[in-house]
Amino acid sequence: MSKSVVWRASVLHFLADPSQQSSYGEAWEFFEDGALLIEDGHIKNCGPSDQVMNNLPSGTEIKNLPGKLLVPGFIDTHVHYPQLEVLAGCGVQLLDWLNQYTFPAEKKFSDPEYASEVARFFLDQCISHGTTTALVFGTVAPQSVDAFFSEAHQRNLRMIAGKVMMDRNAPDYLLDTPENSYKDSKALINRWHDKGRLSYAVTPRFAPTSSSEQLKLAGQLLREHDGLYLHTHLSENPKEIDWVQELFPDSKHYVDVYDQHGLLGPRSVFAHSVHLCDHSWQRMGSSGSSIAYCPGSNLFLGSGLFNLNKAKAHGIPTGLGTDVGGGTSLCLLNTMKDAYQVSQLREETISPLQAFYLATLGGARALHLEDKIGSFRKGNEADFLVLNPAATPMLEFRTKTTKTLEELLGVLMVMGDDRVIEKTIIMGQEA
Ligand SMILES: [Zn+2]
Repeated sequence: MSKSVVWRASVLHFLADPSQQSSYGEAWEFFEDGALLIEDGHIKNCGPSDQVMNNLPSGTEIKNLPGKLLVPGFIDTHVHYPQLEVLAGCGVQLLDWLNQYTFPAEKKFSDPEYASEVARFFLDQCISHGTTTALVFGTVAPQSVDAFFSEAHQRNLRMIAGKVMMDRNAPDYLLDTPENSYKDSKALINRWHDKGRLSYAVTPRFAPTSSSEQLKLAGQLLREHDGLYLHTHLSENPKEIDWVQELFPDSKHYVDVYDQHGLLGPRSVFAHSVHLCDHSWQRMGSSGSSIAYCPGSNLFLGSGLFNLNKAKAHGIPTGLGTDVGGGTSLCLLNTMKDAYQVSQLREETISPLQAFYLATLGGARALHLEDKIGSFRKGNEADFLVLNPAATPMLEFRTKTTKTLEELLGVLMVMGDDRVIEKTIIMGQEA
């Protein structure tokens, strides 16, 4: 007998991008008195409670959660688990930040025990912050990725990660070679790709730290295995962009460097993409590549204000990334707030509905996982959150007077943090 559980609360999920629907209401479903029926770890039904509860399989366990809001688990499309300990490293911009804070911290991950300890802590924190799927950087040490995948597999999490490929312009203790990075990545792919809910991402750090030979081998890995991701950084900071032009004088621009090495495509996810020329936008769009928009990191490192409307105009799937440790929090609610604030500065204000879309279905689309996660579509994997709009005295005071769904989401995004995440459910099980 399969085990059924029905969760009764308010329910919200997205069917489309609310900013691009001609008829606004068709982009999401909200059931104030709703219910979510889970069977064998998957979504069986979602709708108004009278409709869902009317037709329950016998023996269904009922969980009543009045006053709570169920949403799909949050998706972090760009984060570095080895950078937890450099969070909030103040005083510098990207290139100095890497040398001063990040590289020394990443050195420690050649120790498998240390890597496992941090991977455990990171995944526990993801769960308590409501992040159920993430696209994750390891370090150059393959052990860092073994440790991460091993911990993620034990928790039955849908996670994507990869070993950093980096053969120049970093301290010697963090460099690999083109051949070793190819061999180590291939061994990790064979060990972990498609194991349970895990997928592998070929992960050159960014163009300045890889030789052309290494980028070519990254492209070769993508062609040799089905379903791999490409995960890297793109056009984050003006000094970085000038440097890329010096290192790759034959390229038209930064996107062209990756393009020349066969790295663009529908499973390629580029973090940042803050400063792109028109041709770069077009090429990102025509290649089907995705963007991880990391507003918290872009603000903290002073990188710039991402143009979300350009990404939409070019049909580029875009999700939100925390980019910890360049970002300042693992919390997607905080990241939504940062995205809102960036949109205000650009005078292209996004709605709270748009922000929640980006953190759920938008992220799933950017990772080509919308047939598995990101919404309460029937058959999807049951990764979801129980949100408590009265999690703190301030939130309770404020949400008591909200009159619309949009207003409530705005308050949760602006005033909320991990205390709002009352429960995180992974494949139907409380984590
Ligand atoms: Zn990053």
